[in-house]
Amino acid sequence: MSSVNKTAHPFDKARLEALLNRRFFYAKAFEIYGGISGLYDYGPPGSSLQANIIAEWRKHFIVEEGMLELDTTILTPAPVFETSGHVARFADWMVKDTVTGDVLRADHLVGGVLEARLAGHKEAKGLAANPPAQDDKDKKKRKKQAKAAPVLLSDEIVAEYESTLAQLDNYSGPELGELCRKYDIRNPDTSNVVSEPVQFNLMFASSIGPTGQHPGYLRPETAQGHFLNFARLLDFNNGRVPFASAQVGRSFRNEISPRAGLLRVREFTMAEIEHFVDPEDKSHVRFGEIKDVKLRLLDRHVQVSGRTDLTEISAGEAVARGIVANETLAYFLVRIYTFLLKIGIDPARLRFRQHMANEMAHYAADCWDAEIQGSNGWTECVGCADRAAYDLTVHSEKTGTPLVVRTALKDPIVTEKETAEFDKKSLGKTFGKDTALVQEIVNALDEAGLLKLKGELAQGSATVERDGKSFTLTPALLTIERKTFKQSIREFTPNVIEPSFGLGRILYLLLEHTFWSREQDVERGVLSLPPLVAPTKVLIVPLSAREEFDPLVLEVSAKLRKAGVFSRVDDSNTSIGKRYARNDELGTPFGITLDFASVQNRTMTLRERDTTDQLIGPIDEVIATVTELVQGSIDWPEAARRLPRYDGVQAVAE
Ligand code: AMP
Repeated sequence: MSSVNKTAHPFDKARLEALLNRRFFYAKAFEIYGGISGLYDYGPPGSSLQANIIAEWRKHFIVEEGMLELDTTILTPAPVFETSGHVARFADWMVKDTVTGDVLRADHLVGGVLEARLAGHKEAKGLAANPPAQDDKDKKKRKKQAKAAPVLLSDEIVAEYESTLAQLDNYSGPELGELCRKYDIRNPDTSNVVSEPVQFNLMFASSIGPTGQHPGYLRPETAQGHFLNFARLLDFNNGRVPFASAQVGRSFRNEISPRAGLLRVREFTMAEIEHFVDPEDKSHVRFGEIKDVKLRLLDRHVQVSGRTDLTEISAGEAVARGIVANETLAYFLVRIYTFLLKIGIDPARLRFRQHMANEMAHYAADCWDAEIQGSNGWTECVGCADRAAYDLTVHSEKTGTPLVVRTALKDPIVTEKETAEFDKKSLGKTFGKDTALVQEIVNALDEAGLLKLKGELAQGSATVERDGKSFTLTPALLTIERKTFKQSIREFTPNVIEPSFGLGRILYLLLEHTFWSREQDVERGVLSLPPLVAPTKVLIVPLSAREEFDPLVLEVSAKLRKAGVFSRVDDSNTSIGKRYARNDELGTPFGITLDFASVQNRTMTLRERDTTDQLIGPIDEVIATVTELVQGSIDWPEAARRLPRYDGVQAVAE
């Protein structure tokens, strides 16, 4: 897109939300029944936008990296999540208002109250943190903040609050309870004291079958479906690692108090990758291609010291300096970064934050979140964790199914060791029902123990003991010899590196990043969505609904369809300017106008959404140009070199 001044008006969340609601990007589900928090339905533009983001995700990851795609079930029997640890640990800490019983998420309560107090402090110092209130909703919010924090704070308290906020994700439940007492944190809606934090499991329980004999859950992530199919996937990949599986699907989390629109919902679409890799070799063959890409990182040491400043560093250097644990993890951080930029996320509002020790799942080796900044602050949109061998190991132990990779060793490993050989017949005759026990005692001996036993047998006999019983062994019952072993197969449980995307969060923050208003028309917003993800790519606007335009509209629509460009016709009975403005709100990047000149000369104009600049040319040339614009093979300045500028007054009254 050509550059245009989009900073004429500060970001106005209320206007964006009004637009998204009015144009049905998404809306509260079951609205006419009163709605349920955390459940949303997507309307036509929202659904197309999400479908386009998913299409690009599939290209960027599945196609580009040759991943193995999966579609596994949502409904999952309970033993799977008992084994994975979700039944015991997939929980958030909640507190209750001691008077009303209202439930609040403990970390959000502490974070929200401390942030509000800091905002009030800044306001009191005359450094208003927020622009003046512009509507009722804004005023209410500010009133609430002022109620929570009307006072100047000491420098010491400001530093303590900032340090606490920087480490908020690192606190355990009891520590959050301690913070509530220490800073007198109460329910901001009622000013009542809150209870001690208790754990609340986020999975939706269900039962499978008519008699309810199989307890189950709706999955809270798609990952387990990848792990349970590991043996088949490995076979599909000819027994070799590394490889990755990928899946786009719904997940469910019974969030404690979802209030942040699409950012925290109870049912959402995830796109997850499980990259299986040799634990002894986490290098990546394509690392060289991306090692110079710079990322903005917030590592765990900076956060633990109470700060949030970012380090801009190349992926190569981050691995060399041990900031990111390994090449494969860093490779995915860069791939996540390039994907988010491609779909239109502002790089200045994107960072990668490393998990602190307590925040990380106990089995994870390292974890980074891609966080996107929006009007609610920084939000985790993609988690990227090295889950080590945890998942495959626990499922294998529980089910007895080997979930391992076997590779032929280039140089077989040759070892020598003392080995006991039993004469089973004599052993059975001598020890009867204790035979197995005697074998077990001998087999449990280490090299030194076997050598000692060998020496004693050479003297005639030896005695071994267990649980107060003793057994006399002789060379007729067993011999111990030094033997050579050759190992030509290596067997290992692969480690898993998991990038996990929440598509609703990305979609909403993309809408925030691309929303702005024109100076001359503040009421109507523009969504500067890249053509790649825009719901409609080209708007066809006939000057009037007169019949003589019909054949041309049909011809242009058919030609665009043939070129694979998704277009819509707006032949409504309103001015061209209004029709364009309406489609700027939907993020439609290009518009084609058909007027009387088009009918006579077979020319048409092409309009670019952000600049509103127009070009003119013969129908087929305009179609060829707009097709390339939509495909991203040329940009608007290049289109302007190919087609003459159009300065005529287009929007004449009918
Ligand atoms: P997690 O498994 O908790 O790391 O979550 C993976 C991704 O899912 C996050 O990065 C978010 O983008 C998304 N996500 C998690 N919980 C929610 C939620 N309640 N609503 C929307 N997206 C979510």
